[in-house]
Amino acid sequence: MAPNDPSNSCIRMMAPRPWCLPFPYVPEPFPDELLSSWLRRTGVEYGISLEQLAQHIGISTTKPAYIDQDLSRDEIGRLAGAMRVERAEIRQRLYQPLRPQVRSLRAHRAPIQVCTSCRAQHFAAHAQPVFIRTWFEFWRIECQACQRALSSLGSPALDRCNPAREHPGWFSGIMPAARHGAARLHLYARRPFSAVLPPVAVLCLLSKPLTPGWPDDEVIRYGGYGVADLFVPGLSEITREQGILVPEVWTIKKPVRLVTARIILLAALSHFLADPKASFRRVRDTAGFGVGSFLERWVSALPPHARSSIC
Ligand SMILES: [Zn+2]
Repeated sequence: MAPNDPSNSCIRMMAPRPWCLPFPYVPEPFPDELLSSWLRRTGVEYGISLEQLAQHIGISTTKPAYIDQDLSRDEIGRLAGAMRVERAEIRQRLYQPLRPQVRSLRAHRAPIQVCTSCRAQHFAAHAQPVFIRTWFEFWRIECQACQRALSSLGSPALDRCNPAREHPGWFSGIMPAARHGAARLHLYARRPFSAVLPPVAVLCLLSKPLTPGWPDDEVIRYGGYGVADLFVPGLSEITREQGILVPEVWTIKKPVRLVTARIILLAALSHFLADPKASFRRVRDTAGFGVGSFLERWVSALPPHARSSIC
């Protein structure tokens, strides 16, 4: 066959790129470490960037966010060969696919929380930053490696309520319900949830203040407090002492740290989803259901099948 035969060059262009040899040394991954974080640390051992490492192995994308969620079967095989592990090890370091409605509950660029204990171990063992999958996921409240509560990023905000410090007995008491609510939200984020009410819609409801549409005496009693007060034992007493505890919208207004508000909301979510119909009636009976109330607006925004199940 002639060297400049066009059909021959076409065959050569389509030939799959050979897999690279396994790296002689691969640093040990940390528990639940994201694939891009592990690859970046491996590249540092060889004096190359994550982008150069990805190109060397033959991965089409070099951005961490895409490496962690958009790899083909061939690329997973290439990585497993290069990193001297089974394909399953690579897969378990990727993000799980999420339902479109809840994708915003996962951060892509920077963690929303950390485990301070594990992070200290990372710093002690390795100069490079380590990124753990659960630090990016809103529904995670405890570290998967050491079971400690996850913390907000940055230094503590002393001007905010901190029930974990000021009411430790009460806060530990709502943790079992919060774990249950977190598990339900995690389940929903990954696949269709069996309850008619989407947990994210319930979280939004629980974040609302109980003020519009209320009789005067009820406004005095509950005014300014959140729907979550109705479902988390003891929350309304603490709220009276310390001001509004549950944020109006958890990602915008944060009288408490996000991690604290999230635990309160997840505890309430667990209770609410145990019997959405009864729970919704409780909110409606307490708050009133007048025209223009936030509750009515909330209900009218729900899908028809969800509306009929709670009204
Ligand atoms: Zn930890």
